[in-house]
Amino acid sequence: MLAGPTSDIRAAAAVAAECGIQQEEMTLLSEESAPRAIYCPHCHATTPTLRVAGSEVKCKSCGTNLTTTDHFSRRMGAYLGYQANVEEAS
Ligand SMILES: [Zn+2]
Repeated sequence: MLAGPTSDIRAAAAVAAECGIQQEEMTLLSEESAPRAIYCPHCHATTPTLRVAGSEVKCKSCGTNLTTTDHFSRRMGAYLGYQANVEEAS
């Protein structure tokens, strides 16, 4: 059984299929409620969050308020976040 964010389990299912595993043998559990890793461009840490894209989450590492996005970075292995209230930052 595969469980996790949709993008993750689809990738895992694709790998499994290449290995000869039939789709019917797999149970894909897409959990929209599963934590998503948000990448912090400020300190390069990732913060798990249950919030949907467009909401704010505080970076667990540097405390920067990050606005979450639906943009998943395979390179980072996380969803990209960007600093919220940029105009207030100096
Ligand atoms: Zn950070």
